[in-house]
Amino acid sequence: MNSESRPEVLISSNEIAATVDRLAAEIRRDYLGKDPLLLGILKGSFMFMADLIRLLDFPLEVEFVRLSSYGRGTESSGKMNVVQGLRSTVKGRDVLVVEDIVDTGLTVAYLMEYLSKKRPALLKLCALLDKPSRRRVPVSIDYIGITVPDKFLVGYGLDCDEKYRNLPDVCILEGE
Ligand code: 5GP
Repeated sequence: MNSESRPEVLISSNEIAATVDRLAAEIRRDYLGKDPLLLGILKGSFMFMADLIRLLDFPLEVEFVRLSSYGRGTESSGKMNVVQGLRSTVKGRDVLVVEDIVDTGLTVAYLMEYLSKKRPALLKLCALLDKPSRRRVPVSIDYIGITVPDKFLVGYGLDCDEKYRNLPDVCILEGE
């Protein structure tokens, strides 16, 4: 990747930092003193999670889950996911799901339903980016960073074929 091939910046690193700051303040108000479990969805949320938890100055645990699909063609049914990697007990815990972007909503809708069946004491969702124009299932996001247009975004953890995750800004990848 060189400077010529850099996609157009939509949200600068400074704007991201200010947004993460605001979200951390909101989360702190609700989760302070609760020893929460922050559950990131891989891979896209790793950078957001790393920045967010450094602004949460109280005891917490971090875990990451991965949602993989059953196979091709299942997305349209909405039954596309298998949750992998959840090692902590969720029952009775104060859980906060941390997601990079909510698009159709299928991923988080599935995960929130899956987690709620495990009877956490508190279950909320934080998403850095929200693309509501593409929603296919209703999702209630408790902490929303920035609402984005219907464009394919890369950077700050978001990829295109595993590339661009390392960009410090959220950028628009044209032609996607
Ligand atoms: P959903 O299930 O809400 O449709 O999709 C959520 C996942 O799709 C996100 O965690 C992310 O991995 C991927 N995704 C959705 N929109 C974008 C986008 O604009 N860019 C990239 N790189 N990934 C996206």
